[in-house]
Amino acid sequence: MTPSAGATNRPAEGVAPEPLPGVIDAHSHTWSRELQHDHTAVLQRAWDSGLSHLIEVGCDTRTTLASRDLARREPRVHAVAGLHPHEAKNLAAERAGLQAAIEGGGFVGIGEIGLDFFRDLSPRDEQYESLRWQLELARQHSLPVVIHSRNADEECFAVLKEWAGRVGRYLGPDREIGMMHCYAGDLALAWRYVDLGFLISVPGTVTYANNAQGQEVARLMPLASMLVETDCPYLTPVPHRGRRNEPAYVVHTARFVASLRGCEPAEVARETAANAARLFGFAL
Ligand SMILES: [Zn+2]
Repeated sequence: MTPSAGATNRPAEGVAPEPLPGVIDAHSHTWSRELQHDHTAVLQRAWDSGLSHLIEVGCDTRTTLASRDLARREPRVHAVAGLHPHEAKNLAAERAGLQAAIEGGGFVGIGEIGLDFFRDLSPRDEQYESLRWQLELARQHSLPVVIHSRNADEECFAVLKEWAGRVGRYLGPDREIGMMHCYAGDLALAWRYVDLGFLISVPGTVTYANNAQGQEVARLMPLASMLVETDCPYLTPVPHRGRRNEPAYVVHTARFVASLRGCEPAEVARETAANAARLFGFAL
């Protein structure tokens, strides 16, 4: 197939999938530039596609405040406050603003925070400092954490294991303490995170034909430990791969997970939505 033929066969951007009632996108960045020019339509397509809620996640103080503004306007959106590991080099400048935002309330979690040794856009010692500081903030404010870990499997696990061992199930015996956003590790590591009290979030990359490891995790993890997410505008699932991602497309990911497991898409939607509501403490 020529590249141009492939392009014409791709679905257009902004097409709402067949609805999957009740599904939740556990991780979105609709504040991003790519999604701002038609933001109202992006949200409308999310609701039209059956989403009951979405979790909007900040990466620095500015986008944290934008996430909270959106959550205050739209009750189906819940905001998460944090400094991304790429931005950890700005911790000194961001710290006071982020802390003030969190103390102002209106957030359901702290994130996205973590370690990224793939792109290494911040020095590693500053990534560690930013992560550890925000883990303590989460404990102080009784909020769960949203973790970004890339090419740092064991390093990130070691930090979270130490922290989880110290803070315990601080949100209550039946609630997890965090989620592994865009989980890209293997099944054994996923189980170790579940044992620490984390949920495993499956992104759109699970739909990619060459992602055997991600598909194994999505097939074999209990639904009780799973979330589905877009991480929009990135990591667009099939059939929109190569285009901009948006919350509505979490439906494609949930349906694909159901096909891997041989169950009904409604079951994936219902269970992962219940997990998101429990983790972030809102009613469905
Ligand atoms: Zn993200």
